[in-house]
Amino acid sequence: MSNIAEEMFGQPPKNMTEEIFTSRPDRAAVGDPPPIPDLIKNLYMDTTAWAKDGFKTGNQEEVSRRLAICGECEFFKGGRCMVCGCFMALKAKLSTGKCPKEKW
Ligand code: SF4
Repeated sequence: MSNIAEEMFGQPPKNMTEEIFTSRPDRAAVGDPPPIPDLIKNLYMDTTAWAKDGFKTGNQEEVSRRLAICGECEFFKGGRCMVCGCFMALKAKLSTGKCPKEKW
């Protein structure tokens, strides 16, 4: 017996708790950001490194170069990097910002 969601969408609804909290090696490859615990860890690590560097920002030329590389990247979706989960318009400006795939 199927439920209304299956009838409407043809598949069972996702388990949202599992979806946002569980690591899967293929998340970035299928266009999903990291789970929330990893997002928090990444934000903490990036912010700590940036604070240690005195909250400096990169020059506009370097920021533009980074964003151009992200724009061509298979992990870039909706303005975010699906590997680290960061919003690249912000992360690309950090003096200590690093691409998790070492593309910049
Ligand atoms: S930070 Fe690196 S992996 Fe992420 S979208 Fe940009 S180029 Fe791709």
